[in-house]
Amino acid sequence: MRIVFAAAEVAPYAKVGGLADVAGSLPQALAALGHHVSIHLPLHGTIDRERFGIPTDAVVRSVPYGRSHVRVAYPSIVRGGVRVVFVDNGRHIGRATVYGAPDDAKRYALFARAVAEDLAQGGDRPDVIHAHDWHTALLVPMAAGHYRRALGGPATVFTIHNLAYQGQSAVDVVGLVGLPRKHVHPEKHGELNPMARAIASADAVSTVSERYAEEILTPEFGNGLEALLAERRDDLWGIVNGIDVDVFDPFADAHIPVHYSAVDMRGKAQDKAALQKELGLAVSARTPLFGVIGRLVEQKGIDILTPVAPEILRAGGQIAVLGTGEPRYEAMWKELAERHAGSLSLRLGFDAALAQRIYAGSDMFLMPSRFEPCGLGQLISFRYGTVPVVRAVGGLADTVRDADADARQGTGFSFREYAAEPLGDAVRRAIRAYRDGARWSALRTRVMGLDHSWAASARRYVEMYEAARDSARAA
Ligand code: ADP
Repeated sequence: MRIVFAAAEVAPYAKVGGLADVAGSLPQALAALGHHVSIHLPLHGTIDRERFGIPTDAVVRSVPYGRSHVRVAYPSIVRGGVRVVFVDNGRHIGRATVYGAPDDAKRYALFARAVAEDLAQGGDRPDVIHAHDWHTALLVPMAAGHYRRALGGPATVFTIHNLAYQGQSAVDVVGLVGLPRKHVHPEKHGELNPMARAIASADAVSTVSERYAEEILTPEFGNGLEALLAERRDDLWGIVNGIDVDVFDPFADAHIPVHYSAVDMRGKAQDKAALQKELGLAVSARTPLFGVIGRLVEQKGIDILTPVAPEILRAGGQIAVLGTGEPRYEAMWKELAERHAGSLSLRLGFDAALAQRIYAGSDMFLMPSRFEPCGLGQLISFRYGTVPVVRAVGGLADTVRDADADARQGTGFSFREYAAEPLGDAVRRAIRAYRDGARWSALRTRVMGLDHSWAASARRYVEMYEAARDSARAA
């Protein structure tokens, strides 16, 4: 199959969160299955052209935008058998940050149209167009609408990585990119909801775990789109994310000081000591070290973690936090770090290399999310023999089995109710297991043996593409 991806962030070129991991590794896994895959992303201002060998000469096309046209260049490279196309129109599309500009809705609408134009003018006739999250959502109604003939009637697939971000804006945006202003339930009058449009018009819709695919049909997790999603229930797929096992590999990771594997874990102890030293924590092999990596936002459970953190420290633990996010959460953690210097370290910022040292050097990984479409931190932790402590929600519920509830197959510690007390209880149970040497090393070995590579999930995506093609043909 000829499959075209479009996404706002793609690792390793531009990464804010899990979307980049998926967009940077699923295409390669599909290519390895023999499919012809390409991915379009914006040439963000932060992308280092030299480092990635992005050519300066490229096809340039004229893309209709409102009443005029803009010129867009499409330099491309090939990585892992996948053509990566950087959509370049400095002023309108590429910016210093991936998200957060006041005109995000407009620039991503233009990005979607620039992708459609590239395919149409280039004479590409993909079998499947696969858009991800609200940023590229308008590509779906475009490919199913005014670009359908020019693209040879491709099947369209839309993946929800996080339903909390829908990209709502003024309806005028659709006029700029040639889409009708028609009302899509549940858009309000005068409002555009790119995610709702994609859900309504895609041949198949997916999200990134089976549990989240069920949760989003309820008001608690549906963010107002539960009724629309229920209408699409027959075409709604839940496919759990994989991770790039070549990037996240304690036996080969260039960012960690000492390599290790499940058969020889000595390196992990050295990585822990090095991490403690690097972060200004007391160097101690017997102290349980908890890692926290992620966006410091409400979704990630920061408000229940903050009251539990001092308890962890009182129980003799250490915490290493890496993240950026809302100022109020950053301020809360800064205060904690100041109060508990030597046992709680905070790094505010995005640092992929440090993240890998924390995954490797920690004993446990904390992810008490309020909601979690899939979550990658727990999967990366498994790979590094780091035991996750999570809330049993969304993809975390699908991928982490509580080791007290299931002594033989448990892979972490989990709790259900979103509150500090049950989180504290899960942490205490994790520390108890940690202090039992034989039990802990068995648990570590077990999680390192789990297979969260893309192989199985990539095949499920292919099944979904085939189903989408059938329904596109039937239409
Ligand atoms: P989300 O996509 O909701 O942010 P995920 O768990 O799906 O959460 O994916 C987050 C990804 O981003 C993981 O690969 C994680 O290691 C990485 N990450 C998050 N914050 C940081 C940070 N501050 N520095 C480095 N990597 C980070």
